[in-house]
Amino acid sequence: MPGRSQVPLPDGAGPVAPGPESILDRLPDPPQGPTAAPGDSVPGGGEVYFGALSLRLRVVLSQLPLTLSVMVVALFLLVLPTEVGRIDSHALSLGLGGVLGLTALAAAVPWDRLPTVAYWSIPLLDFVAIAPIWSSARHDLDGMSMLCAFPVFWLAWSGVYPCAGIGLGVLGSAAVTWWPYLTNLDQLTTGEVFRPTLVPLFMLALGVAASILSRSMDRQRDELEESLAEIRQQNRRLAAVLDATDVGILVTDRRGRGLLMNAAQRRQHLIGQPPGRHDAPERDLLAFEADGRTPIPVTERPVYRAVHGESFSGRLVALGPVGNQQFLSISAQAMRDERGAFDGTVVVFHNVTDLLDAVRSRERFMANVTHEFRTPLTSIIGFLDLAIEDEQDARLAGYLATCLRNAERLLDLVNTLLESASGDTSITPEDTDLVPLVAHSVDSAQVRAAHAGVALEARLPESLHARADRARMSQVADNLVSNALKYTEAGGSVTVTLREVGDRAELEVADTGIGMTPEELEQVFRDFYRSEYVRRAAIPGTGLGLALTRSFVRGHEGEITVRSEAGVGSVFTAWIPLAGPGGGAREDGGAEGRPRPADEGRRGA
Ligand code: ADP
Repeated sequence: MPGRSQVPLPDGAGPVAPGPESILDRLPDPPQGPTAAPGDSVPGGGEVYFGALSLRLRVVLSQLPLTLSVMVVALFLLVLPTEVGRIDSHALSLGLGGVLGLTALAAAVPWDRLPTVAYWSIPLLDFVAIAPIWSSARHDLDGMSMLCAFPVFWLAWSGVYPCAGIGLGVLGSAAVTWWPYLTNLDQLTTGEVFRPTLVPLFMLALGVAASILSRSMDRQRDELEESLAEIRQQNRRLAAVLDATDVGILVTDRRGRGLLMNAAQRRQHLIGQPPGRHDAPERDLLAFEADGRTPIPVTERPVYRAVHGESFSGRLVALGPVGNQQFLSISAQAMRDERGAFDGTVVVFHNVTDLLDAVRSRERFMANVTHEFRTPLTSIIGFLDLAIEDEQDARLAGYLATCLRNAERLLDLVNTLLESASGDTSITPEDTDLVPLVAHSVDSAQVRAAHAGVALEARLPESLHARADRARMSQVADNLVSNALKYTEAGGSVTVTLREVGDRAELEVADTGIGMTPEELEQVFRDFYRSEYVRRAAIPGTGLGLALTRSFVRGHEGEITVRSEAGVGSVFTAWIPLAGPGGGAREDGGAEGRPRPADEGRRGA
């Protein structure tokens, strides 16, 4: 049937390399009005439906099958040997001329300007033209009665007035088949009476079948149009929602062709344009790492990775010329078809420039304020030291010592804040024996431990060399030991163990303190995180120590983990790579030798 659109079958289930038409090379065509949503295009676009043609053309096309058929009949009568005298060539020419004339009339009359049923005149007059052809050739050619089927089918199929169409078709075909007998051209024998009777009956059946088929197809078409209208309406709503959001959204198919790009993403796309351009495709955009200076190679750009099937989240990209950039956090989610093959991607662009500005302002503010605190505090500590030395009155000296202790604690807090705000986690690793470093941290904490009534024990090998930044690793050990003491109640214990495990040096700080719930554990390394209990108990702290500790450990290409159970205790384990070959533990018996005290002391929390 004319106008049926074909559903393209998926060709191959595997990922398809993005072609030159991909989003990497060209932008999707700009939408008219709101974002163009899939389904807005005409189904089977490009094909012309019979129903969409002008009425005049449809009338001509409906007449053509009969025209061609009578021409074939005429041709057969010319070439086939027939009994001379049996064919009434005059009647034949009349019929042929009639059909051709009606075809010309169908093409000439402006049917669109006349009432719809006016074109029925053509199939009705066709019966008049068929009658002489049938009466002349019915003895020499079989199936001449089939000529009536064309106008009958046309009248019934048109669906304007189905019953009238079928009735007129039956009457017309009856008139054609009875014509020779009514005009006495033939004597109606008993044997022949069935012939002119049966043809109109067959035509009735044909007309009814055509009418039912036509009506059922009309109903299907109406339902399809209704569903399409609904889909279009839904797509328009979706497009309006997508355009209203300030998050950029890009959807591509599995070949990387842009299916959808919302208004926010079109605006963001402009930010990355090289100078003097406004339509550069994805691969030509100015895209840099979060430092705003390092260009991102084309194959590592988020959209490139996304159209190649990768899913990821929170990839930070600086877009635009240096000095005038916007920062985007980009996430991509690959879509899969029912066979699990890559079927396109959804890429979401979150503009986080304001957020980053706010974070940087906060860091700048903290750095300035803490810096301003540090100078007077250092001076206070210095003068308190002098005052304690000179003070003869023991009671006053005790007060001053308390002031000094608190001033020093305050300086510690200020230093931590300053360090975190500066974001300086630079590491200069060198071959370092971790044992004296950790021993010093433990020794320094012994007074505090005794004060808190907590047993502090160190289990250290004789030496353990790692590639470490001395100052940073001291901070790591200090912080873990100080936390363990801070969060362990009197009567508890803290055990610090240093050991070699494979090619790493491992520092473990285990306590029998308050421990943490699984929810608290998840957040423990976040900036400024302090557990609910610790905040309520007003245990002093900034919530920055562990965040800094982790960044120092990671700066050594190591990692820190924690196991903990509320009310039982916690075990923090930090590891960093050992120094080069032979730089590991130098203890009698070696790493694989007899168990060291450190191994014995290992336990879960
Ligand atoms: P601070 O100790 O200054 O609060 P940290 O970053 O060092 O900051 O620790 C963050 C939070 O993690 C603490 O407030 C506390 O709730 C929890 N925490 C850290 N170490 C321990 C520990 N050994 N036992 C129980 N909770 C701990």
